[in-house]
Amino acid sequence: MKSREIRLKSRPVGMTKTTDFETAEVDLGAPAAGQVLVRNRWMSVDPYMRGRMYDRPSYVPPFQIGEALQGGAIGEVVESADGGFAPGDLVSSMLGWREDFIAPASALEKLPVSLGSGGVPPQAYLGVMGMPGLTAYAGLLEIGQPKPGETVFVSGGAGAVGSLVAQIAKLKGCTVVASAGSDAKCEWLKSAGVDHAINYKHGNLLDQVRSAAPKGIDVYFDNVGGEHLEVAIELARTNARLVECGMIGSYNAAEPTPGPRNMIMIVGKSLTLRGFIVFNFAHLRPQFLTDMGGWLAAGQIRVEETVMDGLDKAPDAFLALFSGGNTGKMLVKL
Ligand code: NDP
Repeated sequence: MKSREIRLKSRPVGMTKTTDFETAEVDLGAPAAGQVLVRNRWMSVDPYMRGRMYDRPSYVPPFQIGEALQGGAIGEVVESADGGFAPGDLVSSMLGWREDFIAPASALEKLPVSLGSGGVPPQAYLGVMGMPGLTAYAGLLEIGQPKPGETVFVSGGAGAVGSLVAQIAKLKGCTVVASAGSDAKCEWLKSAGVDHAINYKHGNLLDQVRSAAPKGIDVYFDNVGGEHLEVAIELARTNARLVECGMIGSYNAAEPTPGPRNMIMIVGKSLTLRGFIVFNFAHLRPQFLTDMGGWLAAGQIRVEETVMDGLDKAPDAFLALFSGGNTGKMLVKL
């Protein structure tokens, strides 16, 4: 049986281009003992994948030129030579960027849902119930430590992680200021209950956040870095927590980007800046699934997805992350 996969053709220099990817056809054969044949139904594109395109040591190994990319995916078992999986099972894996694949059973995790069942749809396990959801939950609650009545500022507010940070912060009784790159995204944020939605592409960011949070901010959840981080340091209250989740604004930069010019304020205001990687918070997953599942069932969290169709669109979906082409989780339906 044949499948198709997307490979890294060249390491991007500066902004990633579609020509940095290539599609290849592969012969799969049949699953050997302990292996499973899976047809992917959904795949995730995530900003961190840009980091894996550089050839440098990091918390995940770099993608290799000429090899298929990897990433979160939800698929359906087609054929199984392992007792733990049967045709029709829905599984999650890190073997996205391909249509079908054969993998050892140990590379798969069975989803607690089936196609067409009630509850959350399978692709939710790539978003609100998956890695981005846990990122928002762990980063905000464990590092941000928001308390009722405090003010939380989140950048990338209309994205997969940011939209959940904003809504969890509201559930925790905070005033929420969120920034996003379009008026339509700001409208969405307001419809999801955010107190102040700021289009960072219009007007002065510092002035806009200051007028939304006149007493300052207690927690900043950083998805963007750059000017947003500088503004957050400027407006942080004494003892504020700055959750360093990501800095997407610099992922495609060809040269090192300048840091905030007001770092000295970290000292005087006794600020805590703490970065984190979601994998180090895996122990929170059971509690996260219970809490998020409950909030979803109660209609307390609004979920948004932006979906592109077909493997050929995967590079476009990935690139669109860097131009604001998504509201909520960016997904590719296979
Ligand atoms: P998003 O769904 O938020 O998609 C990316 C969004 O970032 C875009 O839609 C765009 O929205 C915004 N953006 C892109 N370029 C810029 C820029 N130059 N300046 C400001 N905003 C920009 O992605 P995720 O929710 O998956 O990820 C959000 C952040 O969280 C990323 O930094 C990612 O690396 C990080 N992350 C970290 C993890 C961890 O373990 N630490 C785990 C998962 C994610 P807009 O239209 O608003 O500009």
